[in-house]
Amino acid sequence: MATYDVREIRTPILEPTELIARGVGQLTDIVSKEMFAFERGSTNYVLRPEITAPVMRAYMQHHLDQSGGAQRLYYIGPCFRAERPQKGRFRQFHQFGAEFIGAPDPVSDAESVALMMAVYTSLGISDTILRLNTLGDEQSRPRYRAALVKYFEPYLDDLTETSRRRLDQNPLRILDTKVPQEKALLVEAPRLIDYVDDESRRHYDRVKTHLSDIGVEFVEDPMLVRGLDYYTRTAFELESPQLGAQSALAGGGRYDLLSVEIGSKTPIPAVGFAAGMERLFLALDEGVAEYDNPPPDVFIVALGDEAVREAFKIAHALRREHKSVAYDLLGRSMKAQMREANRHGSRWTMILGERELAEAEVQLKNMETGEQRPVPIRTIAQFIV
Ligand code: AMP
Repeated sequence: MATYDVREIRTPILEPTELIARGVGQLTDIVSKEMFAFERGSTNYVLRPEITAPVMRAYMQHHLDQSGGAQRLYYIGPCFRAERPQKGRFRQFHQFGAEFIGAPDPVSDAESVALMMAVYTSLGISDTILRLNTLGDEQSRPRYRAALVKYFEPYLDDLTETSRRRLDQNPLRILDTKVPQEKALLVEAPRLIDYVDDESRRHYDRVKTHLSDIGVEFVEDPMLVRGLDYYTRTAFELESPQLGAQSALAGGGRYDLLSVEIGSKTPIPAVGFAAGMERLFLALDEGVAEYDNPPPDVFIVALGDEAVREAFKIAHALRREHKSVAYDLLGRSMKAQMREANRHGSRWTMILGERELAEAEVQLKNMETGEQRPVPIRTIAQFIV
């Protein structure tokens, strides 16, 4: 995030339900059936199901526009949705994402995609599919929606009940269907791109050019939509084919009208992405890539009560020098502690017994070379490099 000049914002886990209902959309599954909401006093609160609307709320409430330029903010934290838990889908999960608020230009859309991709590629997850589309302006979707409804009308009897309901309430969601006979109907259905305004098409072309300029590969997917009217222009989604049913790693797009939906008098142009941490971990676990915490700088093996007391003091002093320290102060045997030291994979192991204590020194062992030598306690920090 720092490489992309993006700063962290932390918002509360509880938000007014009203904000999420408006900011995510009444017609979405999230708001219609997945909110953990409750009443306190005269207000209804919800455990946030996502973090874009809260970030936009914070931006507006705290006048972040007055700090000049576009705000480039990232977040990371828990979200809650009352879903049926399964692999890659939880009731409490974690999202990270970035929002560029006050940024109307196509470079920002491209940067948002580039930043999202950089997170995955930097962790070695490269076997992904990036899908891209444009949704046009606020007039494009009503036009397209009408065309879609008209197209499906003669086929009403062939649609599932769910799709008939969607056609009535939120027709664009039919494009998400998994039912084979409905998918077949979609092949001939009108395409959103044919209803998109010229300005949005130009914007889309610029986004694609910027992505191509930096070698980000994508596929254009005319069926990729977001059902809500405040999403404008760019929409994108990142998928990992290895993950099975829950293959969506992250998604995002431009949402120039969200601000108006949640109370701004004028639109605040914005674009961003949201990603699932657990899905990211799944992608790593599938053997796509390895990631582990770096080992501590030193592991301390201490034998006897006095040595344990000294080890605790040494660890404290080293940590103040920004060295990372691990130990196992369970009073176990030397052999058990050495095994633990090996397991931690630190470069150095420090051994502290009664004899060393009497000399005010420790045995310092370089775990790479196996070399071991006594070092005075006061000078330890300079040897841990
Ligand atoms: P969304 O806000 O629905 O666009 O979700 C953004 C990302 O969050 C998805 O691509 C997933 O990676 C992740 N995600 C959404 N819902 C869940 C969930 N219930 N459990 C785990 N990850 C989720």
